[in-house]
Amino acid sequence: MIHRWLVALAVAMAAACSPLAPAPSSSAPAAGAVEVVWLGQSAFKITSPSGKVIVTDPWLRTNPLTPAAYKQLDGLGQIDVLLVSHGHFDHIADAPALAQIYNVPLRGPGDLLNTLMTLGVLPANLLPRMNKGGTVEPVPGIRVTAVRAEHSSIYVWRNPATNKDETHPGGEAIGWIIELENGFRIYHAGDTAVFGDMRLIGERYRPDLALVPIGGHFTMDRFDAVTAVGMIEPQQVIPCHYNTFPPIEADAQAFKQDVQNAGFSEVVVLDPGQSHTLR
Ligand SMILES: [Zn+2]
Repeated sequence: MIHRWLVALAVAMAAACSPLAPAPSSSAPAAGAVEVVWLGQSAFKITSPSGKVIVTDPWLRTNPLTPAAYKQLDGLGQIDVLLVSHGHFDHIADAPALAQIYNVPLRGPGDLLNTLMTLGVLPANLLPRMNKGGTVEPVPGIRVTAVRAEHSSIYVWRNPATNKDETHPGGEAIGWIIELENGFRIYHAGDTAVFGDMRLIGERYRPDLALVPIGGHFTMDRFDAVTAVGMIEPQQVIPCHYNTFPPIEADAQAFKQDVQNAGFSEVVVLDPGQSHTLR
């Protein structure tokens, strides 16, 4: 089973090097709207009401779910805020390259950023440290807060001198509260198990939209994710981190039914590359 998804991953990686589909549409959402595009796993492209672009957990080039158009990193057009939840490959993979292409700081767990700095992955000016509980305003009008996640974090780095992989400290995994110019708040939960302080996050930040993993195995599954949504109480939920490979297969429609039957929130299930516009 593991062999089969490794083969699928290898095929996807090969596909990433093949000729690409047209670049993603650069048409901006209507003024005042929030546009959220799911790019597979925990990668999202969020466009704020004034047109600021926030990209989260960018694993794009070798992600089997990422549409071909988004595997072309310089085709994203614009990135104003780049957020990473932890050091695992499926969340940070393309973040250093994007930071350099768009000259945008990589924001993530402070101790993970220190590892990236000492390894020379990125220069210090693209690695502004912060930690859980901290709120910063990377660009005018967009405020991000690092919050707790119940997960782990390491950074695996291929040492060019030895051509061998090394495992380095990755800080502590986090989630993000992203507040846009109009006060609209998004909770990107990162990779996480369900935990009781999701209720605190819900009460303190009152997110309008939550992006939550449902794939199980490495994070909460779709059943625990229903419990999580009941604590967070967002207006809307978009599930992520599922169906990328067999260990994290999940039935998103069943998750939607369970959340909505419980009367917690509206669930929007997106296909990779599909966008959802909110006002
Ligand atoms: Zn992870």
